[in-house]
Amino acid sequence: MRLAWHSGFASSTRDRFGGLGSIIMLHRVRPDCISPLGVTRSLAITPVFLDQIIVSLKSEGTEIVSMDEMAERVKAGLPGKRRFVAITLDDGYNDNLNHAYPVFQKHNAPFTIYAAPGLIEGAAVLWWEIAEKLIAKADSIRIPGGPEWRCRTLFQKRATFHSLMRYFSFTLTELEQLPVLREMCAQEGMICGASADQDVMNWKEMRQIASDPLCTIGAHTVHHYNLKKLTPDMVAQEMRLSADMLEAELGKRPAHFAYPYGSSKAAGRREAEIAAAEGFVSAVTTRHGTIHAEHRANMWALPRISINGRFQKLVYARTMMSGVTTPIANAGRRVVQA
Ligand SMILES: [Zn+2]
Repeated sequence: MRLAWHSGFASSTRDRFGGLGSIIMLHRVRPDCISPLGVTRSLAITPVFLDQIIVSLKSEGTEIVSMDEMAERVKAGLPGKRRFVAITLDDGYNDNLNHAYPVFQKHNAPFTIYAAPGLIEGAAVLWWEIAEKLIAKADSIRIPGGPEWRCRTLFQKRATFHSLMRYFSFTLTELEQLPVLREMCAQEGMICGASADQDVMNWKEMRQIASDPLCTIGAHTVHHYNLKKLTPDMVAQEMRLSADMLEAELGKRPAHFAYPYGSSKAAGRREAEIAAAEGFVSAVTTRHGTIHAEHRANMWALPRISINGRFQKLVYARTMMSGVTTPIANAGRRVVQA
Protein backbone atom coordinates (compact mmCIF):
# COMPACT_ATOMS: atom_id res chain seq x y z
CA MET A 1 0.00 0.00 0.00
CA ARG A 2 2.88 2.37 0.75
CA LEU A 3 4.32 1.63 -2.68
CA ALA A 4 0.95 2.20 -4.36
CA TRP A 5 0.63 5.59 -2.70
CA HIS A 6 4.19 6.90 -2.95
CA SER A 7 4.59 5.81 -6.56
CA GLY A 8 1.61 8.03 -7.37
CA PHE A 9 -0.31 5.00 -8.63
CA ALA A 10 -3.08 5.28 -6.05
CA SER A 11 -3.63 9.00 -6.58
CA SER A 12 -3.55 8.75 -10.38
CA THR A 13 -6.00 5.84 -10.52
CA ARG A 14 -8.36 7.44 -8.01
CA ASP A 15 -10.73 8.77 -10.64
CA ARG A 16 -11.18 5.33 -12.18
CA PHE A 17 -11.26 3.21 -9.03
CA GLY A 18 -12.19 5.71 -6.34
CA GLY A 19 -15.63 6.45 -7.80
CA LEU A 20 -17.73 9.06 -6.04
CA GLY A 21 -16.25 8.54 -2.61
CA SER A 22 -16.10 6.11 0.30
CA ILE A 23 -17.83 5.11 3.50
CA ILE A 24 -15.37 4.64 6.35
CA MET A 25 -16.10 1.95 8.96
CA LEU A 26 -14.94 2.36 12.53
CA HIS A 27 -15.85 0.65 15.80
CA ARG A 28 -14.04 1.89 18.90
CA VAL A 29 -12.23 5.21 19.19
CA ARG A 30 -10.17 5.49 22.38
CA PRO A 31 -6.66 6.50 23.43
CA ASP A 32 -5.80 3.20 25.14
CA CYS A 33 -5.76 -0.37 23.87
CA ILE A 34 -8.07 -2.55 25.93
CA SER A 35 -7.69 -5.86 24.10
CA PRO A 36 -6.05 -8.15 26.73
CA LEU A 37 -4.91 -10.74 24.13
CA GLY A 38 -4.48 -8.26 21.29
CA VAL A 39 -7.02 -10.19 19.21
CA THR A 40 -9.61 -7.39 18.95
CA ARG A 41 -7.05 -4.61 18.60
CA SER A 42 -8.05 -3.99 15.00
CA LEU A 43 -11.44 -2.67 16.24
CA ALA A 44 -10.00 0.42 17.97
CA ILE A 45 -8.27 3.52 16.63
CA THR A 46 -7.09 6.48 18.69
CA PRO A 47 -8.83 9.89 18.65
CA VAL A 48 -5.50 11.35 17.43
CA PHE A 49 -5.61 9.09 14.36
CA LEU A 50 -9.26 9.98 13.71
CA ASP A 51 -8.25 13.65 13.85
CA GLN A 52 -5.40 13.02 11.38
CA ILE A 53 -7.74 11.24 8.94
CA ILE A 54 -10.22 14.13 8.97
CA VAL A 55 -7.49 16.76 8.57
CA SER A 56 -6.03 14.79 5.66
CA LEU A 57 -9.41 14.38 3.94
CA LYS A 58 -10.16 18.09 4.26
CA SER A 59 -6.71 19.11 3.02
CA GLU A 60 -7.16 17.08 -0.18
CA GLY A 61 -10.60 18.63 -0.75
CA THR A 62 -12.73 15.61 0.15
CA GLU A 63 -16.10 16.50 1.66
CA ILE A 64 -17.20 14.71 4.81
CA VAL A 65 -20.91 14.03 4.43
CA SER A 66 -23.81 12.45 6.32
CA MET A 67 -25.30 9.15 5.09
CA ASP A 68 -28.35 11.10 3.80
CA GLU A 69 -26.04 13.29 1.73
CA MET A 70 -24.09 10.20 0.59
CA ALA A 71 -27.33 8.64 -0.68
CA GLU A 72 -28.26 11.84 -2.53
CA ARG A 73 -24.83 11.98 -4.19
CA VAL A 74 -25.02 8.35 -5.32
CA LYS A 75 -28.54 8.79 -6.69
CA ALA A 76 -27.47 11.93 -8.56
CA GLY A 77 -24.34 10.05 -9.66
CA LEU A 78 -22.53 13.24 -10.56
CA PRO A 79 -18.90 12.63 -11.36
CA GLY A 80 -16.68 15.66 -11.22
CA LYS A 81 -18.20 16.81 -7.97
CA ARG A 82 -15.85 16.84 -5.00
CA ARG A 83 -15.29 13.36 -3.64
CA PHE A 84 -17.08 12.47 -0.41
CA VAL A 85 -16.39 10.39 2.65
CA ALA A 86 -19.10 9.32 5.09
CA ILE A 87 -17.79 8.23 8.48
CA THR A 88 -19.66 5.39 10.20
CA LEU A 89 -19.17 3.68 13.56
CA ASP A 90 -20.72 0.29 14.36
CA ASP A 91 -22.22 -1.02 17.62
CA GLY A 92 -22.57 2.24 19.60
CA TYR A 93 -19.54 1.98 21.89
CA ASN A 94 -19.53 4.64 24.61
CA ASP A 95 -16.06 5.72 23.54
CA ASN A 96 -17.81 7.09 20.43
CA LEU A 97 -19.40 9.66 22.73
CA ASN A 98 -16.40 10.24 25.00
CA HIS A 99 -13.53 10.22 22.49
CA ALA A 100 -14.78 10.35 18.88
CA TYR A 101 -17.56 12.91 19.28
CA PRO A 102 -15.21 15.74 20.44
CA VAL A 103 -13.13 15.17 17.27
CA PHE A 104 -16.23 15.33 15.06
CA GLN A 105 -17.38 18.48 16.85
CA LYS A 106 -13.97 20.13 16.45
CA HIS A 107 -14.11 19.59 12.67
CA ASN A 108 -17.88 20.05 12.32
CA ALA A 109 -17.86 16.62 10.65
CA PRO A 110 -21.04 14.57 10.29
CA PHE A 111 -20.95 10.91 11.37
CA THR A 112 -23.27 7.92 11.64
CA ILE A 113 -23.55 5.41 14.50
CA TYR A 114 -25.22 2.05 13.82
CA ALA A 115 -26.84 0.94 17.06
CA ALA A 116 -28.39 -2.38 18.12
CA PRO A 117 -31.00 -1.84 20.89
CA GLY A 118 -30.37 -5.35 22.25
CA LEU A 119 -26.78 -4.33 23.07
CA ILE A 120 -28.08 -1.21 24.80
CA GLU A 121 -30.65 -3.08 26.89
CA GLY A 122 -28.62 -6.21 27.65
CA ALA A 123 -30.62 -8.65 25.49
CA ALA A 124 -27.47 -9.09 23.42
CA VAL A 125 -23.78 -8.80 24.30
CA LEU A 126 -20.54 -8.02 22.52
CA TRP A 127 -19.74 -11.71 22.78
CA TRP A 128 -16.36 -11.53 21.06
CA GLU A 129 -15.11 -9.10 23.69
CA ILE A 130 -16.50 -11.14 26.59
CA ALA A 131 -14.93 -14.27 25.08
CA GLU A 132 -11.56 -12.51 24.94
CA LYS A 133 -11.78 -11.45 28.60
CA LEU A 134 -12.85 -14.96 29.60
CA ILE A 135 -9.96 -16.62 27.76
CA ALA A 136 -7.49 -14.08 29.19
CA LYS A 137 -8.58 -15.12 32.69
CA ALA A 138 -9.05 -18.90 32.32
CA ASP A 139 -6.54 -21.77 32.07
CA SER A 140 -8.93 -23.82 30.01
CA ILE A 141 -12.21 -23.20 28.22
CA ARG A 142 -14.96 -25.77 27.98
CA ILE A 143 -18.06 -25.30 25.90
CA PRO A 144 -21.02 -27.01 27.60
CA GLY A 145 -21.60 -30.18 25.60
CA GLY A 146 -18.84 -29.15 23.20
CA PRO A 147 -15.06 -28.98 22.83
CA GLU A 148 -12.51 -27.95 25.46
CA TRP A 149 -9.32 -25.96 24.90
CA ARG A 150 -6.27 -25.48 27.13
CA CYS A 151 -5.28 -21.85 27.28
CA ARG A 152 -2.39 -21.28 29.67
CA THR A 153 0.05 -19.45 27.41
CA LEU A 154 -0.61 -16.36 25.33
CA PHE A 155 -0.14 -18.46 22.19
CA GLN A 156 -2.77 -20.99 23.39
CA LYS A 157 -5.11 -18.20 24.43
CA ARG A 158 -5.00 -16.57 21.00
CA ALA A 159 -5.53 -19.93 19.29
CA THR A 160 -8.44 -20.64 21.65
CA PHE A 161 -9.99 -17.29 20.83
CA HIS A 162 -9.96 -18.04 17.11
CA SER A 163 -11.34 -21.58 17.67
CA LEU A 164 -14.08 -20.17 19.85
CA MET A 165 -14.92 -17.52 17.23
CA ARG A 166 -15.34 -20.24 14.63
CA TYR A 167 -17.42 -22.39 17.00
CA PHE A 168 -19.72 -19.50 17.91
CA SER A 169 -20.00 -18.29 14.31
CA PHE A 170 -20.51 -21.55 12.49
CA THR A 171 -21.50 -24.36 14.91
CA LEU A 172 -23.87 -22.64 17.31
CA THR A 173 -27.10 -21.04 16.12
CA GLU A 174 -27.51 -17.32 16.75
CA LEU A 175 -29.98 -18.00 19.58
CA GLU A 176 -27.64 -20.45 21.32
CA GLN A 177 -24.69 -18.07 21.56
CA LEU A 178 -25.72 -16.00 24.56
CA PRO A 179 -26.89 -18.88 26.84
CA VAL A 180 -23.70 -20.83 26.08
CA LEU A 181 -21.52 -17.80 26.78
CA ARG A 182 -23.40 -17.16 30.04
CA GLU A 183 -22.72 -20.72 31.19
CA MET A 184 -19.04 -20.46 30.27
CA CYS A 185 -18.73 -17.20 32.19
CA ALA A 186 -20.48 -18.75 35.21
CA GLN A 187 -17.86 -21.54 35.24
CA GLU A 188 -15.19 -18.86 35.67
CA GLY A 189 -17.18 -16.72 38.09
CA MET A 190 -17.44 -13.93 35.54
CA ILE A 191 -20.54 -11.81 34.98
CA CYS A 192 -21.76 -11.90 31.41
CA GLY A 193 -23.78 -9.14 29.89
CA ALA A 194 -24.00 -6.67 32.76
CA SER A 195 -24.50 -3.51 30.77
CA ALA A 196 -22.02 -1.57 32.90
CA ASP A 197 -19.36 -3.97 31.69
CA GLN A 198 -20.37 -3.70 28.09
CA ASP A 199 -18.94 -0.42 26.98
CA VAL A 200 -21.91 0.50 24.81
CA MET A 201 -23.85 3.73 25.23
CA ASN A 202 -27.02 3.59 27.32
CA TRP A 203 -30.20 5.29 26.12
CA LYS A 204 -29.39 8.54 27.93
CA GLU A 205 -26.01 8.72 26.21
CA MET A 206 -27.59 7.76 22.90
CA ARG A 207 -30.09 10.62 23.25
CA GLN A 208 -27.28 13.02 24.08
CA ILE A 209 -25.22 12.22 20.98
CA ALA A 210 -28.27 11.80 18.71
CA SER A 211 -29.47 15.30 19.56
CA ASP A 212 -26.53 16.79 17.64
CA PRO A 213 -27.42 17.43 13.98
CA LEU A 214 -23.94 16.12 13.07
CA CYS A 215 -25.00 12.67 14.29
CA THR A 216 -27.12 10.19 12.33
CA ILE A 217 -28.30 7.06 14.11
CA GLY A 218 -28.65 3.99 11.90
CA ALA A 219 -30.13 0.60 12.75
CA HIS A 220 -27.97 -2.49 13.31
CA THR A 221 -30.65 -5.11 14.16
CA VAL A 222 -31.89 -5.74 17.71
CA HIS A 223 -29.74 -8.73 18.71
CA HIS A 224 -26.71 -8.37 16.46
CA TYR A 225 -27.41 -11.76 14.88
CA ASN A 226 -25.85 -13.01 11.67
CA LEU A 227 -28.89 -12.45 9.44
CA LYS A 228 -27.95 -15.15 6.95
CA LYS A 229 -28.52 -17.70 9.71
CA LEU A 230 -32.12 -16.55 10.33
CA THR A 231 -35.41 -17.16 8.50
CA PRO A 232 -36.66 -14.34 6.23
CA ASP A 233 -39.36 -13.44 8.78
CA MET A 234 -36.78 -13.15 11.54
CA VAL A 235 -34.52 -11.00 9.33
CA ALA A 236 -37.38 -8.60 8.61
CA GLN A 237 -38.32 -8.52 12.28
CA GLU A 238 -34.75 -7.80 13.42
CA MET A 239 -34.59 -4.88 10.98
CA ARG A 240 -38.05 -3.47 11.69
CA LEU A 241 -37.95 -3.86 15.46
CA SER A 242 -34.53 -2.23 15.74
CA ALA A 243 -35.86 0.77 13.78
CA ASP A 244 -39.03 0.82 15.93
CA MET A 245 -37.03 0.80 19.18
CA LEU A 246 -34.58 3.48 18.04
CA GLU A 247 -37.49 5.64 16.86
CA ALA A 248 -39.34 5.19 20.18
CA GLU A 249 -36.28 6.14 22.26
CA LEU A 250 -34.70 8.81 20.06
CA GLY A 251 -37.74 10.29 18.34
CA LYS A 252 -36.52 9.70 14.78
CA ARG A 253 -36.82 6.60 12.61
CA PRO A 254 -33.46 5.46 11.26
CA ALA A 255 -33.20 5.60 7.46
CA HIS A 256 -29.91 3.71 7.20
CA PHE A 257 -28.95 0.18 8.18
CA ALA A 258 -25.75 -1.84 8.77
CA TYR A 259 -25.63 -5.66 8.62
CA PRO A 260 -24.03 -7.22 11.71
CA TYR A 261 -20.64 -8.77 10.72
CA GLY A 262 -21.46 -7.66 7.16
CA SER A 263 -19.31 -10.17 5.27
CA SER A 264 -20.65 -12.36 2.45
CA LYS A 265 -21.25 -15.01 5.14
CA ALA A 266 -23.57 -12.66 7.03
CA ALA A 267 -25.36 -10.58 4.38
CA GLY A 268 -26.24 -11.33 0.78
CA ARG A 269 -28.84 -10.65 -1.85
CA ARG A 270 -31.76 -11.89 0.29
CA GLU A 271 -30.83 -9.56 3.16
CA ALA A 272 -30.43 -6.63 0.73
CA GLU A 273 -33.91 -7.25 -0.67
CA ILE A 274 -35.42 -7.34 2.82
CA ALA A 275 -33.60 -4.12 3.84
CA ALA A 276 -35.02 -2.44 0.73
CA ALA A 277 -38.53 -3.77 1.45
CA GLU A 278 -38.28 -2.50 5.04
CA GLY A 279 -37.82 1.00 3.65
CA PHE A 280 -34.19 1.73 4.48
CA VAL A 281 -32.56 4.28 2.18
CA SER A 282 -29.23 2.48 2.39
CA ALA A 283 -27.58 -0.55 3.97
CA VAL A 284 -23.85 -1.08 4.43
CA THR A 285 -21.81 -4.28 4.52
CA THR A 286 -18.23 -4.80 5.69
CA ARG A 287 -17.07 -5.72 2.18
CA HIS A 288 -14.06 -3.72 1.06
CA GLY A 289 -14.69 -1.10 -1.59
CA THR A 290 -15.39 2.48 -2.64
CA ILE A 291 -18.75 3.93 -3.77
CA HIS A 292 -19.63 4.30 -7.45
CA ALA A 293 -22.54 5.65 -9.50
CA GLU A 294 -23.44 2.00 -10.24
CA HIS A 295 -24.47 1.58 -6.61
CA ARG A 296 -27.54 3.69 -7.39
CA ALA A 297 -29.20 0.47 -8.57
CA ASN A 298 -28.44 -1.26 -5.28
CA MET A 299 -28.20 0.98 -2.24
CA TRP A 300 -28.59 -1.98 0.14
CA ALA A 301 -25.19 -3.61 -0.24
CA LEU A 302 -22.74 -0.73 -0.02
CA PRO A 303 -19.11 -1.64 0.67
CA ARG A 304 -16.99 0.26 3.16
CA ILE A 305 -13.36 1.03 3.92
CA SER A 306 -12.46 -0.41 7.32
CA ILE A 307 -9.78 1.52 9.17
CA ASN A 308 -7.83 -1.14 11.04
CA GLY A 309 -6.49 -0.27 14.50
CA ARG A 310 -3.44 -2.43 13.88
CA PHE A 311 -2.23 -0.24 11.02
CA GLN A 312 -2.95 3.34 12.04
CA LYS A 313 -1.09 4.96 9.17
CA LEU A 314 -2.57 7.69 7.00
CA VAL A 315 -0.94 6.25 3.90
CA TYR A 316 -2.96 3.02 4.27
CA ALA A 317 -6.24 4.86 4.76
CA ARG A 318 -5.60 7.15 1.77
CA THR A 319 -4.57 4.27 -0.48
CA MET A 320 -7.70 2.28 0.39
CA MET A 321 -9.94 5.30 -0.21
CA SER A 322 -8.33 5.83 -3.63
CA GLY A 323 -10.10 2.59 -4.63
CA VAL A 324 -6.90 0.97 -5.84
CA THR A 325 -7.23 -1.88 -3.30
CA THR A 326 -10.88 -2.61 -4.20
CA PRO A 327 -10.15 -4.96 -7.16
CA ILE A 328 -7.36 -6.62 -5.19
CA ALA A 329 -9.76 -7.52 -2.37
CA ASN A 330 -12.62 -8.45 -4.71
CA ALA A 331 -11.27 -10.70 -7.45
CA GLY A 332 -10.69 -7.85 -9.87
CA ARG A 333 -14.04 -6.11 -9.42
CA ARG A 334 -14.04 -2.31 -9.29
CA VAL A 335 -17.63 -2.04 -8.04
CA VAL A 336 -18.54 -4.24 -5.07
CA GLN A 337 -22.17 -5.19 -4.43
CA ALA A 338 -24.02 -8.11 -2.80
ZN1 LIG B 1 -21.75 -4.76 14.71
